[in-house]
Amino acid sequence: MDKQSRSKLGINTRLAHGGYDPTDYHGFVNPPVVHASTVLFPDAQTMATGNQPYTYATHGTPTTDALCRAIDELEGSAGTLLVPSGLLAVTLPLLAFLSPGDHLLMVDSCYGNTHYFCNTTLKRLGVEVEYYDPLIGAGIEKLIKPNTKVVFTESPGSNTFEMQDIPAIAEKAHAAGAVVMMDNTWATPIHFKALDYGVDISIHAVTKYPSGHADILMGTVSANEKHFKTLEQTYTALGLCVSGDDAYQVLRGLRTMGLRMERHAENALAIAEWLEKQDGVLEVLHPALPSHAGHEIYKRDFTGGGGVFSIVIEGGKAQAHAFLDALEIFGLGYSWGGFASLAVHVRLNDRQITGKNYAGTVIRLQIGLEDKEDLIADIAKGLAAARAA
Ligand SMILES: *Cc1c(COP(=O)(O)O)cnc(C)c1O
Repeated sequence: MDKQSRSKLGINTRLAHGGYDPTDYHGFVNPPVVHASTVLFPDAQTMATGNQPYTYATHGTPTTDALCRAIDELEGSAGTLLVPSGLLAVTLPLLAFLSPGDHLLMVDSCYGNTHYFCNTTLKRLGVEVEYYDPLIGAGIEKLIKPNTKVVFTESPGSNTFEMQDIPAIAEKAHAAGAVVMMDNTWATPIHFKALDYGVDISIHAVTKYPSGHADILMGTVSANEKHFKTLEQTYTALGLCVSGDDAYQVLRGLRTMGLRMERHAENALAIAEWLEKQDGVLEVLHPALPSHAGHEIYKRDFTGGGGVFSIVIEGGKAQAHAFLDALEIFGLGYSWGGFASLAVHVRLNDRQITGKNYAGTVIRLQIGLEDKEDLIADIAKGLAAARAA
């Protein structure tokens, strides 16, 4: 079946078949894992013109291409690039589109290491970085200057889960000629097709749900027709690429991502609803809850959610540590999107606008694929320990 007819099918059908046609490789259901640097040419003339599908493995192999095409089909993008981490998927487009003297509008609730890159490398390169309130919506217009080149979004925000009005922001940014980028890791292209909502460049830490097993680091950057070339130039100039083994594993993860996300989301929502009723829990920061300030935008734009959200519990660092130390099933560790549940005490000291006014301390939970009754019992132990601390 071709890509065009596949685009009309349901999401799980597309996840199962996207990116690769078994008839391209002797009928094998999965693509070959190509280990390569050198590619041979049949003659000097072909070598001189580079007129064959593959020329050198930094520019792609059948394995990396299968993953890129699968992501393009999900995103509706003109092209996708694979990079060695989710953080690089954030920094590459910023490097590709920003020059000294340009102004960047960066959402304040962005991923923590995005703050670090902006405050160090981009400042050193003479880029003017301005953080904005994630709830700004069309009000972004007032912050746009003649030198605003990029408006960067992330929705929901890392750790605090503010929902952004992406179409309203994209409209104002485009009217001023700025490029709109979005770190879309939380929803994945299953639940938010960013390019359909005005985003030019959609970014994913595929380390998270697409990989799904806490064993791969990778990022993807997908762009529309207008912006792909500029992005690809910087990618090629920097010599970025990923290994065939890793690309194969992420494609393998995509095949089951729909099912996994359904369970992550279902577990997470049930646990979030339970948490709203517990003593010592001041707030549950999950956009799928009707009580969340961004719930209307979530319902309007997203078809579902993920399994990571935060809670605000009474107290400070002592209570947070008591909560974490009482957990037995949840691991204490960074990242999310894998099969196992994780918890982390959130620090918001890199924020300039958001996250200042919580009445307690913030803990992020990644809800894994375990049985939710066991997870609830584990969290109950944590809450009891925090109340006793
Ligand atoms: C995890 C994460 C990243 C970085 O991904 P790595 O692969 O860990 O570098 C970027 N953005 C968001 C929103 C993330 O959650």
